[in-house]
Amino acid sequence: MKLICFMLLVIVFQADHFKNQRELMVENQLAQRGIKDKSVLEAMRKVPRHLLVPEKVRKYAYDDMPLPIGEGQTISQPYIVALMTELIKPQKNMKVLEIGTGSGYQAAVLAEIVEEVYTIEIFEGLGLRAERDLKSLGYKNIQVRIGDGYKGWPEAAPFDAIIVTAAPEQIPQPLIDQLAEGGRMIIPVGEEGKIQQLILGEKIKGKFKTRFISSVRFVPFLRDKN
Ligand code: SAH
Repeated sequence: MKLICFMLLVIVFQADHFKNQRELMVENQLAQRGIKDKSVLEAMRKVPRHLLVPEKVRKYAYDDMPLPIGEGQTISQPYIVALMTELIKPQKNMKVLEIGTGSGYQAAVLAEIVEEVYTIEIFEGLGLRAERDLKSLGYKNIQVRIGDGYKGWPEAAPFDAIIVTAAPEQIPQPLIDQLAEGGRMIIPVGEEGKIQQLILGEKIKGKFKTRFISSVRFVPFLRDKN
């Protein structure tokens, strides 16, 4: 009985500790650096990032840096997730496609705000783990697919917004094609190992117009050889 009480106390203490860290992260790393969208700040105040990263890096979950998530991949630092989410101007009634599920964190942040999230991961192990973790956190509006995101998700297109979290050398044409009129895409573009450009694209009257947002460094966009 004493042991059970002690363990319960530890769990409560830990949950509280992470909640405090999350509050600090939102205030110091996001709000103070210019993230203004209330829905984004609210979502990131809510999503338990520490439950989506591997256990061995859990204690760093709310630190201002990317973290390893297995298969040589990384989850972006919280600020980059917030910036990319804010730039697509997320709204309740939107359907959003993400390429690069990774830990599932970006998908969860989106799912707090928009109606439907579709996310594609090329590594089966990562995709299945994210799908399981997102389900256990209670998300019902996220669909995970294993495969090469280059081809997008044609059956569910068009999308109101597309977020790409790995860097291709050029913007994949199928993703441009699957963007709805007035839709926005945020994507890092550039060569592996070099500084890449974070690009915001918008489809206006059928034309895809892009502008530079900032310099970034993402993991490379991989291609399925099949
Ligand atoms: N958004 C993720 C971070 C992803 S890191 C998160 O919130 O945790 C980028 C991810 O893109 C990696 O998991 C990598 O395996 C995946 N990836 C790379 N190329 C891909 C492709 N062509 N299709 C789908 N996923 C890809």
